[in-house]
Amino acid sequence: MENIDYPMQTLAEPFRIKMVEPIRMTSLEYREKALKEAGYNPFLLSSEDGFIDLLTDSGTGAMSQAQWAGMMLADEGYAGAKSWIKLEKVVKELTSMPFVLPTHQGRAAERILYGILGGRDKVFLSNTHFDTTRANIEYSGATALDLMPDEIMENDKFLPFKGNIDLIKLENSINQIGNNNIAAIVLTVTNNSSGGQPVSMSNAKAVRKICDQNNILMVIDGCRIAENAYFIKHRESGFENYSYKEIAQEMLALGDAFIMSAKKDGLVNMGGLLCIKDESLSKKCMNQLIISEGFITYGGLSGRDMEAMAVGLEEVFDESYLHYRIRSTAYLGEKLHTKGVPVIWPIGGHAVYVDAHRLFPGIPVDQYPGQVLVCELYRIGGIRCVEVGSVMFGKYDDHGRLIPAAQELVRLAIPRRVYTQSHIDYVLEVFDHIMKNTSINTGYKIIDESPFLRHFTAKFQKIDNNGNT
Ligand SMILES: *Cc1c(COP(=O)(O)O)cnc(C)c1O
Repeated sequence: MENIDYPMQTLAEPFRIKMVEPIRMTSLEYREKALKEAGYNPFLLSSEDGFIDLLTDSGTGAMSQAQWAGMMLADEGYAGAKSWIKLEKVVKELTSMPFVLPTHQGRAAERILYGILGGRDKVFLSNTHFDTTRANIEYSGATALDLMPDEIMENDKFLPFKGNIDLIKLENSINQIGNNNIAAIVLTVTNNSSGGQPVSMSNAKAVRKICDQNNILMVIDGCRIAENAYFIKHRESGFENYSYKEIAQEMLALGDAFIMSAKKDGLVNMGGLLCIKDESLSKKCMNQLIISEGFITYGGLSGRDMEAMAVGLEEVFDESYLHYRIRSTAYLGEKLHTKGVPVIWPIGGHAVYVDAHRLFPGIPVDQYPGQVLVCELYRIGGIRCVEVGSVMFGKYDDHGRLIPAAQELVRLAIPRRVYTQSHIDYVLEVFDHIMKNTSINTGYKIIDESPFLRHFTAKFQKIDNNGNT
């Protein structure tokens, strides 16, 4: 592998722009009206009403010329398409898993696998269950427990692998619950809901060992496996001379199953994967796949989707791409940190997480400080992003009082290969305005919500200084 050195400080994007998509700025009045009409939930805004869209890094990336060219050559055969055979080969080589099932996105793979493994009395253990992961597990009737190390809550503390699962909590939980009731251990790599923080190879190996000792299935939810490999190469000793792909291969080989939303490190706008080692489990999954997604050689995908994914899964391990990817996310996070914006430290792979509770200490948690920041970023700068706090993870007690999430975060997710450094400089300038008014002390009330994944559709009302809406 060649080791490129990067002598300059300026992070120049390792691509040229060949096709442009215009974006437009709107007026403050326009955005205030749009926000109100969307019930103060940016998920309900029209995408063209925003200027910079940091809502998610999922399916929002730009494809390369090689991916677009591949799409023109794709085979749309119903069964055994050439594009499927190409994708299957790439995925088998990456995961070393013999059974590869294409799905239309990550949650379809989750619903299939967790629907089969889950059910009442079953428990899933994870470093952190992503929101759709938790929803699919809970929908099956099972319980999802997050086992994060306590010290990851220290948002300022530098730890190289804050995404790790806590091994002591893991062993204690297995002892308490009994391995027969544990459906699987799900290692989320990188750990999306916990700041996009990486998981070390040694942590993954320890989980494998615990799974072997207790006869428990190990699932890797690895939609950001390439980004995680970058952190391992640069932070974990012993991997300096590995390629990013070799690191990913070594980690994926540890799992019994691999779930991937290809909308992340697959570098495509739509697609997912479910890979399985065990033949009998794979057969059960294939039955479900045929019922709900499509035949086993296309799942929910067209031939061109699979072609683009096959190319994307190779490109994502490119050294200049990964360097640019991780460093450009860090560029935003480090600059915000310097401005005094409280961010989760160190900066993760795909997103910067702002601690809205610390930014707006006057806003009560049950008035959703994260939602306030989300709305302010849109109002002031046309920036769209998502709350990852009590709107996303809050529950209610028997008296209808909010049981808040552990943290009130806001996620600024960076789409892959989409925005340039000057777009990010613009975001930083919007934060200068936010920082001028951190004494806001009222927030929002939820007036409409659904029982699962409520953050997608919830509607809010503003609370004024007298506590009225
Ligand atoms: C995005 C994501 C999923 C769900 O994938 P979709 O393609 O959005 O359905 C699952 N797990 C993690 C960690 C994710 O980031």
